[in-house]
Amino acid sequence: MRAVGTVGGYAILRQEPLERLEGSYLELEHQRTGARHIHIACPDDNNAFAVFFPTVPQDSTGVAHILEHTVLAGSRRFPVHDPFFSMTRRSLATFMNALTSADWTMYPFSTRNAKDFMNLLEVYLDATFFPRLSEDSFRQEGVRFEFDETDNPTSGLRYKGVVFNEMKGGLASPQAAVHRAIGKAMFPGLTYAHESGGDPQHIPELTWDQLRQFHAVHYHPSNAYFYTYGDQQLEKTLAVIEQSALNRFERTAVDTSIADVKRFSSPVQLVEPYPATAGEDNSHKAQALVTWVTVPSGDSFRTLAMKVLSEVLLSNAGSPLRKALIDSKLGTAVADGSGLHDNYRESVFGAGLKDVNADNAREVEQVVLDTLQELASGGLDKDQVNAAIHHLEFEKRERSNAGFPYALKVLFACLGAYYYGGDPYSALNFDADLAHLEKARGEGRFFEDLIQVELLDNSHRALLTIKPDVELEERNRGLELDRLAAVEAKLTESQKSKIVEDGLRLKADQDAKQDLSTLPTLELSDIPMNFEDVPSRPMMVGPAQVEFFALQTNGVTYIDVRTDFSGLSPELKDLLPLFSRVFTQTGAAGQDYVQIANRIAAYTGGIGAAAQVQPLAAVEDYLQSFTVSGKALDRNAGPYIELLTDLTSRLEVEPKRLKEIISESATRLESSIANLGFQFAALLAHSKLTSEGAINDRLLGLGMLHVMRRLAKLDESELGDVISKLQTIRTRLFRRDSIHVVVTCEGSMVDTVAELLAHLIESLPAGMSDGKADQPGPLDPVPEARTAPLPVAFNVRAFKTVRYTHPDAPALLVLANYLRDTFMHREVREKGGAYSGFAQAGISSGIFYFGSYRDPNITRTYDAYDQAAMWVTEAQIEAEALKEAILGACGDVDPLESPDIKGRREATNRLTGFTREERERFKQRLLEVTAADLVRVAQTYLAHGRSVQATVAGPELIEAARKDRQELFAVVAPI
Ligand SMILES: [Zn+2]
Repeated sequence: MRAVGTVGGYAILRQEPLERLEGSYLELEHQRTGARHIHIACPDDNNAFAVFFPTVPQDSTGVAHILEHTVLAGSRRFPVHDPFFSMTRRSLATFMNALTSADWTMYPFSTRNAKDFMNLLEVYLDATFFPRLSEDSFRQEGVRFEFDETDNPTSGLRYKGVVFNEMKGGLASPQAAVHRAIGKAMFPGLTYAHESGGDPQHIPELTWDQLRQFHAVHYHPSNAYFYTYGDQQLEKTLAVIEQSALNRFERTAVDTSIADVKRFSSPVQLVEPYPATAGEDNSHKAQALVTWVTVPSGDSFRTLAMKVLSEVLLSNAGSPLRKALIDSKLGTAVADGSGLHDNYRESVFGAGLKDVNADNAREVEQVVLDTLQELASGGLDKDQVNAAIHHLEFEKRERSNAGFPYALKVLFACLGAYYYGGDPYSALNFDADLAHLEKARGEGRFFEDLIQVELLDNSHRALLTIKPDVELEERNRGLELDRLAAVEAKLTESQKSKIVEDGLRLKADQDAKQDLSTLPTLELSDIPMNFEDVPSRPMMVGPAQVEFFALQTNGVTYIDVRTDFSGLSPELKDLLPLFSRVFTQTGAAGQDYVQIANRIAAYTGGIGAAAQVQPLAAVEDYLQSFTVSGKALDRNAGPYIELLTDLTSRLEVEPKRLKEIISESATRLESSIANLGFQFAALLAHSKLTSEGAINDRLLGLGMLHVMRRLAKLDESELGDVISKLQTIRTRLFRRDSIHVVVTCEGSMVDTVAELLAHLIESLPAGMSDGKADQPGPLDPVPEARTAPLPVAFNVRAFKTVRYTHPDAPALLVLANYLRDTFMHREVREKGGAYSGFAQAGISSGIFYFGSYRDPNITRTYDAYDQAAMWVTEAQIEAEALKEAILGACGDVDPLESPDIKGRREATNRLTGFTREERERFKQRLLEVTAADLVRVAQTYLAHGRSVQATVAGPELIEAARKDRQELFAVVAPI
């Protein structure tokens, strides 16, 4: 491509306007090294940076993933243990992470502070291009031999290492088995056939030398893709990249290309096991999924077309392929891996069912093929195609920081085209592709032909069966222990003492005090002390209160309909999680669930419902709030509010549909237990401390799981009673006089929305919702362990503390940051090998807790929890560490927001007492927290306070822990 200009040492290959972002797109190439760079110039002050490298491992040792971890463990200019974690405490980053996908490794961050941006940029560049990659950090992050008791060579040889344990936990779920199966079955011989994260059976094969070699080849500017976004001056950023990294390199030829997969002449099959619990009924716990390799992910137009098709086929309850699968009764929910995956060089489309009998996989395949055949010949519903296109348009329009900063969402929107050799600009500015699509649709059977060519006539197809295997966990453990025993048997005395020596050195090194003075940092004076004022316009529409937040929303209207559920009986409250699902997945106003699903897709960007507990700032009490929230483009405000009206005032629930919803919810929950382990343990612990914890456990925790299981046992004919209770919930919750509507929209939309809401409000029955029922007390405080088929543990100990406005609350938040960054990170992650170990202060709910995530230990971790308070008291708290903990706490109370979140958050804050004044006072107090305060609150609340604990883990781990410390758990039961 010919350059249109130059900037610094870069050629500008392309410069285009990005109207949707009020900015422009620049594509650059570094002239000497060939490094690629995309810059998005736009008025957003949340500036982002990312660099990623194609990494294409040829085995499952996890080399790319272990390298990602090791790169973050010290570099030439910043030779400290863990500059990355250290920087999280010296920064106000709105996002910092490192990610390993199947074929790239990325290092992204974002921040709103200009000084912080430059600090992080220096650290990221040095880490990625000049890491130390020391042998000890490879052993700590990857895998090493160590004796069970480090200094005792007779205590049994073990593998230890962060990634080793992370992947044990990471691969245990059915979802992970699906992804493994797709890679193996669809891309034989290519990098995708391997487990890029690392398979614990193969991780020990990796050597330190291979790791360094992999870095030297892949992490070179000639193999690098840069990305920047925001309102900062590009020249300045480029100059830093040049001086701190690129000027040490010359252009080289790096071949990280991935070939097109050789297409199959006939379809294949693959069975992949996942770990399941023995003694349970596993006869219907398989998943069956049909997959195809389809269009190149770099081709933005063809990918857009496939995305629309996938959306039409599967996105909601009314989508034809999804409906045919559910109606077949072969399973109860759509399989993991259903939909389009454009994170391979050639995208994969999949469709199937979970909760099936493995012997029925062929029948699932037949349903998929027959349905596609019918659609290809009979044609797709035009309205459903329109709705799918509308949905994609909505996604592009909305500038939301929810979940992930928008600054990085833009990168992910063009990543496929950027990386796989397509046109990133057209992927971002997809109006041209959209116009092209509309034209193609107008000319004939576009999507029908797409089904025919990319799916039905495409023989590069696989039938994947994901099968529960009750012996898998035990077999893997056996293999690991056998391998260790074989190694141990051959160890000479001198090798044994070397292992002891290495282990002790690593420990000593982990304990050693670090000199962090080389790392850049923000100062307390860099912290903005004021919160933005978010004014509202309250009004009465009929008898209902409506609060308008007029903000720049880029043409999207957000509406929350809120109501108080505190008056419901405990029995009805238990049905709220089900009611939330039913609310958007059933029929209403004479239309069935398919028609309602189509209306939701055609007119909104999504509608959701949830029951939440909202703690008050000053008193031991909380609101119980049921919220229906949704969003729509301004032009659809009318049909959107009509839809909300139908759902709140004329919801219809049929036994057959209810049975489907219950089965699908139960199936989803059961297949996600490996991912929900921490949430379940944390909520279980909290339920033992407070009333709101007890409610939360029933809304989101094990209590909810158990209710869902009980409901799943009921036949269709037994659901009449449940249906009448669901309708009772609805009519008690949605009442004209008691709902509170919160609207965030463009100022120009306020009057229109107010008028439209009048009809919704009139349609509701008069009267207030019932008065408050008795609040439940906390549950039995005995320490509890729950078993699940997991190779790891989630350990939580929780303490009761104080409310937000109490003078000790700011010190508790700083203490949590301090303990997490110092003691917990070192003891539980670095030494213990857990994926993470942390301390958290629930400042709004008056809770403090320690938690460990994907942890290979139980006893060891609780020992660390026991020592934490004493450690705070005895170890000298240094000024630098205190400052970092305060910076971290200031970041916690000032998260990145966008218009979709701002109005809603403000409305809640006003009701619960988290006013702007209170929050500014809290932040001010954070700055005044002293070392003596930390010691005092650690003594008061942790050493002498009331605590409870809960663990979710594999049964062997729990059994072993009870042998060590019988008193750890008074109750042990399956999850
Ligand atoms: Zn990792």
